[in-house]
Amino acid sequence: MQVEKYRIHGITKNTETGDYMIVLDFYYNERMLSNGTCEHCKRFNTSPAWCQSCDPWKSAQKFTSGNEEIDNFIKEFQTNSTEYDKVIEWIPFDRLVNRKEIKNKSEVEFMADWLDCIRIIEGESGNYTRSRTISRVELMKLHCSQASTLKLIENFKNHVQLDKYRIHGITQDTETGEYMIVFDFYHQKRKPINGICEDCKRYNTYLAWCQLCDPWREVQGWTSNDKDIDDCIKEFQLKATAYENVIEWIHFDRLEGPKQIGKVLYTYQLG
Ligand SMILES: [Zn+2]
Ligand SMILES: [Zn+2]
Repeated sequence: MQVEKYRIHGITKNTETGDYMIVLDFYYNERMLSNGTCEHCKRFNTSPAWCQSCDPWKSAQKFTSGNEEIDNFIKEFQTNSTEYDKVIEWIPFDRLVNRKEIKNKSEVEFMADWLDCIRIIEGESGNYTRSRTISRVELMKLHCSQASTLKLIENFKNHVQLDKYRIHGITQDTETGEYMIVFDFYHQKRKPINGICEDCKRYNTYLAWCQLCDPWREVQGWTSNDKDIDDCIKEFQLKATAYENVIEWIHFDRLEGPKQIGKVLYTYQLG
């Protein structure tokens, strides 16, 4: 009672069990006028357009993955969600369309468009609204056998704790049975100042460059006529973090007037 962590309203007794209980507002210190008012309990929200007492229960009620253990662990995450756009969902595989395999040896294995869209908070202080916006997402296999649900859950929790990406949820490939994380791999690098990627409609990861979409354009339409060299350059290209850092195959006839300077060939590149 010394530290005022909650707002305590009183004490009651459960007439069935005989237990005494404190009647309190558990999230009192987090409730702020600037977050807006909860429609359900009429108190201020605990984060923009989100009441931690009332809202997590709504998202936890209306889904099933077909596996009770997985349902329970997703619901556990959901009931502890502190913000609307951090809620983790069960995402049915058929809601992920235009799936494309990614072969650049990163953790991302597929990208897809999520029909239910990602969660965003719009508006400004005191007047926030929840919304969902069309977006591309990435998929990464959890590499666990279907039989080992516990291992799968542990794996997933590790990724959440890493806090490296923005995780939207979990899905199961209906053909292979494999579970996958649905996430935004480059979330921390995406910033408004970099502009919007024409392809995936998210903020770019660097000035006018989306590290997920743009490298694919670079690896197409050229060859050195040596597969090993092509593969080596393409590997660099697929990991390029900025437009001006892309390494290219340069045809010798695009280089004008090579001049010998010691052991270095000094050249001009054409257009
Ligand atoms: Zn509420
Ligand atoms: Zn993109």
